[in-house]
Amino acid sequence: MIDFNHDYRMTIGGRLETSAGSFKAFNPATKQEIARVPDATRAQLDQAVAAARAAFPQWRAAPREQRQAALIRIAELIESHAEQFMALLTREQGKPRAGAEWEIGGSAIWCREMAKLALNDEVLEDSAERRVVTRFTPLGVVGAIVPWNFPILLAIWKIAPALLTGNCIIVKPSPFTPLCTLKLGELCRDALPEGVLNVVSGGDELGKWMSSHAGIDKIAFTGHTDTGKHVMRSAAASLKRVTLELGGNDPAIVLPDVDPKAIAPQLFWAAFQNNAQFCNATKRLYVHDRIYGAVLAALTAYAKTVVVGDGAQADTQLGPIQNEPQYLKVLEYIEDCKKNGYRFALGGEVDADAQGWFVPVTLVDDPPEDSRVVAEEPFGPILPTLRWHDESDVIRRANDTRYGLGASVWGRDLAAVQRIGRQLEAGTVWLNEVHQYSPYQAFGGHKESGVGCENSLHGMMEYTNWHTITLNKTAMMG
Ligand code: NAD
Repeated sequence: MIDFNHDYRMTIGGRLETSAGSFKAFNPATKQEIARVPDATRAQLDQAVAAARAAFPQWRAAPREQRQAALIRIAELIESHAEQFMALLTREQGKPRAGAEWEIGGSAIWCREMAKLALNDEVLEDSAERRVVTRFTPLGVVGAIVPWNFPILLAIWKIAPALLTGNCIIVKPSPFTPLCTLKLGELCRDALPEGVLNVVSGGDELGKWMSSHAGIDKIAFTGHTDTGKHVMRSAAASLKRVTLELGGNDPAIVLPDVDPKAIAPQLFWAAFQNNAQFCNATKRLYVHDRIYGAVLAALTAYAKTVVVGDGAQADTQLGPIQNEPQYLKVLEYIEDCKKNGYRFALGGEVDADAQGWFVPVTLVDDPPEDSRVVAEEPFGPILPTLRWHDESDVIRRANDTRYGLGASVWGRDLAAVQRIGRQLEAGTVWLNEVHQYSPYQAFGGHKESGVGCENSLHGMMEYTNWHTITLNKTAMMG
């Protein structure tokens, strides 16, 4: 019986480990300390790497069905502990029940569905003379470095393809949200041979040790663009493989033919899901001039109905900001808007005495295109709404960013929606919907939003080497 409320330990080589040092985990809705978490030493990372390397030969040689079965077992373990995971996720991350259900339920679905994906050998030639086959063989040991906004789901997006393709893995959760991941590691001892999945907790320094570690063959990273660049630089020393899922500044373009009232809730959740702490949140909302006023009014009216509070309360729809540095960062964007005299259609006043790190839903009415709130990624509940009237100009503005993660277009004129969508520079473009993900759908960023992708066979391939075997059947015969 695993206690989700106490005793958070790392999983290294199948053993549960504490450390000499520790750090604190907080509930962001109350700012109260909720746990002490082991701060892994470099020697403990070395132990995790050694355990993973020792487990690798057997794991890679195991039949695919065994690895598939392990993923299904992980799905079952997540499902049978879903209540505990959801409560703990809300406590450490802040997200309300609906968000926790989506994340924990999604993690189990991902394990089950990814288990169905198979990277089969490609037989390129099988003639009387030659046989040429490309196989997809595991890299070895993967280091997974995860952020705090979707701690479990984004860990599973790395664990599932890594294990299925025959790699062993070391997972490092964000120091702001380590608890669910530590419990996942503890649980998975029931599904996997020791050393195949290790979980180590620590700060950013631990991430740096991982990305420069000679015993790790690939880093699967999700986080800030600037951190991603550090990871790539440090991985270069040993030419480690990297998959980088980084920041975004997703535009949404709204055409003049939509019904403002009907679309307002969809646009709201496109921007504010997970309290806007979402790589794919709509971060710039471009609304056609003709309906701009009506959409902003409907969005403001809808936003006023949304309950912000402690995610543990049943009626809460939006939780707090997950951690203090991020809270202070969002406040900076609000201050910058005030300093520059931009108009708030809603919000903008933060209650500094609130129990937790709460920021009200804030809408900034048509700030300049080069303002910080438009050009950067606030990663919190502050959204600039912007006017447009010329199609080619709004496409240019939407693409005028170093990011290229996602984008969306909304309108009844499907020809126009598709025409605009095809011109947007982003890994995923949603048309009249948003945030639809699938284990079968490649997810990744263009430009500085990332390198490589996750999910789908394309994402899975990034955990493998191409191993091409050519056989000349006749050369030795004469
Ligand atoms: P972050 O980059 O600060 O931290 C992410 C992880 O990297 C943490 O585990 C952290 O400890 C570790 N880390 C920090 N410095 C490191 C270093 N020098 N070397 C190695 N590891 C290091 O990001 P965050 O604040 O946790 O997450 C928010 C960011 O993540 C946003 O920019 C968001 O857009 C992005 N994000 C992207 C995706 C995506 O799929 N593209 C998904 C979610 C979040």
